[in-house]
Amino acid sequence: VYLKGVTAYGFKSFADKTHVTFGRGVTAIVGPNGSGKSNITDAIRWVLGEQSARNLRGARMEDVIFSGAENRQPLNYAEVTLKLDEAGQLIDGAAEIEVTRRLYRSGESEYFLNHNKVRLKDITELFLDTGLGKEAFSIISQGKVDEILNAKPEDRRQLIEEAAGVLKYKKRKKETESKLSETVGNLARVNDIIFDLE
Ligand code: ATP
Repeated sequence: VYLKGVTAYGFKSFADKTHVTFGRGVTAIVGPNGSGKSNITDAIRWVLGEQSARNLRGARMEDVIFSGAENRQPLNYAEVTLKLDEAGQLIDGAAEIEVTRRLYRSGESEYFLNHNKVRLKDITELFLDTGLGKEAFSIISQGKVDEILNAKPEDRRQLIEEAAGVLKYKKRKKETESKLSETVGNLARVNDIIFDLE
């Protein structure tokens, strides 16, 4: 998968619709302090499903919506779209896909996959084990390197598991285990009925 570009409207300092295109190889974003460089990585993390306002350097999630500036009215919603290329790993046979998140001041939140409305769960599952998820290693922000080096072994293992692609199997195992225990419960009830009938 390859992140081709980001389009933001009403997200943090992006009052105007802003496109950022990523070329192959290294892209450097330069600008003075406070000009919005980190807001770009915040926007990417947000579309990937970030649910913590604090991780986006805000107090409430609504803080990501453009709050106005000199001669500029606040906006009513924030919308960010990621354009991903070579997305066959995410959706079989897909070349290019678009993932969008929108948030209104009312708190209403929407996610879209190729312009179709989906749930947050669909987005999370789409990126699971790809290394692109919000908890993944695709965005290493300031201070993150220290955090990884100082992390507890279990926490560091999670990062390695995501890279190795085993999280998907852990999740499926958990789902299967809960189905199994449900079935064991049902079986016990059937046995009770058989016992009563005998
Ligand atoms: P630094 O080099 O200091 O890390 P930066 O270029 O990474 O700076 P950001 O931290 O991405 O800058 O951008 C911060 C700017 O975004 C601030 O000027 C802040 O006022 C603006 N900003 C953040 N949230 C909003 C919002 N909801 N509405 C309007 N502006 C916002």
